[in-house]
Amino acid sequence: MSASTQGIHVRPRVRHDPADNELPRHDRCRPGTPFDPANLIGKTRQQLRAILLEFGTDAKKVDMRVAQIWQWVYQKGFRDFNGMTNLARDYRHALAAHFALQIPVLSHKRISVDGTRKYLFRLADGNEVETVYIPDQGRGTLCISSQVGCSLNCSFCLTGTQKRVRNLTSSEIVGQILAARDDLGEWPLPGRQPLPVPRLLSNIVLMGMGEPLYNFDNVRDAMKVAMDCEGLSLSRRRITLSTAGVVPMIHRAGEDIGCRLAISLHATTDEIRDQLVPINRKWNLQTLFAALHDYPRLSNADRITFEYVMLAGVNDSEADAKRLVKLIRGLPCKINLIPFNHWSGSGYRRSPPERIHAFAGILMNSGYAAPIRTPRGEDIMAACGQLKSDSVRLPRKRRAAVSH
Ligand code: SAH
Repeated sequence: MSASTQGIHVRPRVRHDPADNELPRHDRCRPGTPFDPANLIGKTRQQLRAILLEFGTDAKKVDMRVAQIWQWVYQKGFRDFNGMTNLARDYRHALAAHFALQIPVLSHKRISVDGTRKYLFRLADGNEVETVYIPDQGRGTLCISSQVGCSLNCSFCLTGTQKRVRNLTSSEIVGQILAARDDLGEWPLPGRQPLPVPRLLSNIVLMGMGEPLYNFDNVRDAMKVAMDCEGLSLSRRRITLSTAGVVPMIHRAGEDIGCRLAISLHATTDEIRDQLVPINRKWNLQTLFAALHDYPRLSNADRITFEYVMLAGVNDSEADAKRLVKLIRGLPCKINLIPFNHWSGSGYRRSPPERIHAFAGILMNSGYAAPIRTPRGEDIMAACGQLKSDSVRLPRKRRAAVSH
C-alpha cells in the first residue's frame, strides 16, 4: 500500500440538470461550499472508494475497506482511524496521517421541559446551524438543517429573517446526525451489537434551517449515507425531506433520493401563498401540483405530507379548508396542521384551538388524515420555524479570507 497521496484532488461530481437553470443563480447545483476532500465524513461510497484508490489502496480490497471504515464510523461511532482494529496497523496510521473524520462541534445545547433538545453546532469555518432532537414514544426524530440561513423569506418563519449564508456540505449534514448520536450516547458498547430497538434516533426530517432542494447534491449525498445499510442504516421511509416547492427539483428528489416528501403548503390561493411563501411567485400552486401529480414515488405507502401552518385570520377559514380538499384531490397525502409557533416581531397569531379542530374536521370528513402537530420545545425556541443562528453572510473579500 502506498501512501504517496499528498494533494488528493477528489472533487464532487456536479450534475448540471437543465431544470437547474431555473433556480436562482446562487442556489444552482454546484459545490459552492467548503468541500474538504480530506474529511471522509459524508462522502458517498463511490467518493470514498475513489479517494481510497487514489490513496493507493489495493483495488481488489477497496470495497472491503470502504465497508470497514463505514462500519466503524456510522455503526460504531468511531472517529479515530487508529482504533479501527480490523485494518492493518500501517494502513490505519497512513489514513490518520492523511485524512480526517471531522463533524460539527456542539457549541450550545438546551433541553426543553418536554425532552426536546436544541443543538447549536459550529462548523469548521465558524458558521453555526441549529439541529433539534424530538423524543417520542418508541421513536425519536432529528430535525436537521441543510443551509446556514435561508433564502426563502417565508413571512411567518424566523429562519427566514436570517439571510442565506451558504449551503451545508454533505459532511456537515451527516455530521449533525453523528453529533446528535454522540450527545444521546446512542452507539453500541464494544462487543455489543446491534443497537437496542427502538432507536433513540430513528427518524430524520430535513425541516431545520434552509431549503434542501436548493442544496440538492449535498443533501442527496448525505441521505445516501444515512440510508445505506452499512452507513447509518435508516430506512428511506424514516427520512422526510421538506420543501417550500422548488418545482424543478421535485422529480429528481423522488428519483435520486427516494425518501418521503413534505410540502410546506400553508395556503390555498396564490394570493395568500405569494405573501406567506414567496417562492410561490416563481412556482405557483398550479405548477406545484402538476409536479406533485408527476412525482415518481406516489403511492399510499409513500404519501406526500402537506404542512399547513395555522395562522389566525390568514389561512384558517372554512373556505380555506374546502379549497384545500379540492387542491389535494387525487394525491395520496396527509395534512399536518401546525399551530403557528410564535416569535417576537412576526406579526402573526396562532389560530385558536377550536378553529384548528374545525379545519381538521373538514379535512377528515373528506377522508384525509389531518393530525394537529403538538408544538415541541417551544420553551427553548426549538419548535418549527423558530430556528435561527447568528451567522451572517460576510462580504465577498472577508469570505475569501475566512476560507483560506
Ligand atoms: N425550506 C423547507 C424546510 C424548512 S421546514 C420548507 O419550507 O419546507 C420548516 C417547516 O416549519 C416548514 O413547513 C415551515 O413552513 C414551518 N414553519 C416555519 N415557521 C413556522 C412557525 N413560526 N410556526 C410553525 N411552523 C413554521
